Amino acid sequence: MPIVPTPHASARAECFVESVIREMTRVADAHGAINLAQGFPDFPAPEALKEAAVEALRADINQYAVTWGAPSLRGALAEWLRRRRGVEVDPDTRITIVCGATEGMIAAMLGVLDPGDEILIPEPFYENYGPDCILSGAQPRFVPLAEGFRLDPEALEAAVGPRTRAVVLNTPHNPTGRVFGREEIEGLCRLCHRHGLLLLTDEIYEEILYTGPHRTLLLEEGMDERTLVVSGASKTFSVTGWRIGWVISPESLTSGVRKVHDFLTVGAPAPLQEAVARALAWDDAFYDGLRAEYRARRDLLVRGLQEAGFRCETPEGAYYVMTDVASFLEPGEDDAAFALRLVREAGVATVPGSSFFADPARGRTWIRFCYAKRLETLEEAVRRLGAWASQRPACSS
Ligand code: GLN
Repeated sequence: MPIVPTPHASARAECFVESVIREMTRVADAHGAINLAQGFPDFPAPEALKEAAVEALRADINQYAVTWGAPSLRGALAEWLRRRRGVEVDPDTRITIVCGATEGMIAAMLGVLDPGDEILIPEPFYENYGPDCILSGAQPRFVPLAEGFRLDPEALEAAVGPRTRAVVLNTPHNPTGRVFGREEIEGLCRLCHRHGLLLLTDEIYEEILYTGPHRTLLLEEGMDERTLVVSGASKTFSVTGWRIGWVISPESLTSGVRKVHDFLTVGAPAPLQEAVARALAWDDAFYDGLRAEYRARRDLLVRGLQEAGFRCETPEGAYYVMTDVASFLEPGEDDAAFALRLVREAGVATVPGSSFFADPARGRTWIRFCYAKRLETLEEAVRRLGAWASQRPACSS
């Protein structure tokens, strides 16, 4: 009998593990726990947006849109960028509509980086960036954020080498809730100019922040020609399952992104592109409402966590709270084991902090809570966490 090799996954796919964030959703479901793990809302999307989608379906918009995005959506986005961000972007040469920011980031990396190019990633970081690098052949250099999750210009500078081509920036930041300040951003832009680096900015939480309006990196001096903005409708319009995202790129890089996007997915869902185009024309009151609602959710969860003894700062943006659970850990317990225990004992699911670090040991005392949830959901979660914490023996820290 000839020896027949058993089927196996590719070496590339073997290099990374299944998403812990998505896995925690399954764990939550299996235990009937409240899911404060994966970042998605448990409340409905705006009624007018759903109506627009229904209309698009009834109008038989069922076939492929233009690969890089329906003209109506690219046009509406360009207008939105002018109105809400103060930037002029040509929709024909600089916008690619993709299947969510997740595809946007991998399409941007595959479209502009060569295998072996190094890319700086501030840590902690959203877990997708690791596999994105493996899939695109880029070499990640993880650069720890400084105290208070601040960008550390010296550490970034020290990480630049001859093969460094790009930096990933995510602001508002997942998982820490930081909105990087002027000084941090200016320092980063100087670094990009000094070393001729591209900046890949994940701005998916751009409308969920509490510190004033979002300032896109495209506005920073000279950054327009070296920045690729990745964002989308998922968080702003509470439709993470629609998969409508975009990449705004310098003209010279757009064809790289578009070609990769075309062969990865052909295009984002056509009727939903039409609906998002309509929503982008809504006036500013929508965003004020969104922010006020998220502020109330944030304040409820942060207060509840702190009362239960979780150590955390008040997030400046996005919809996550990173909490230091060192004082809750049992001897030998790490963040992953603790997160599972919290599901079993308190009925609340979170994401273990190690998912956001290259070396899991650095995230061992952290877990992340998501508060993109109805106030009732958060009230119940806070009640459960409070009850759980009060049953524990008193601890000193
Ligand atoms: N960005 C969200 C999170 O961090 C969800 C991402 C996803 O599961 N695609 O939880």
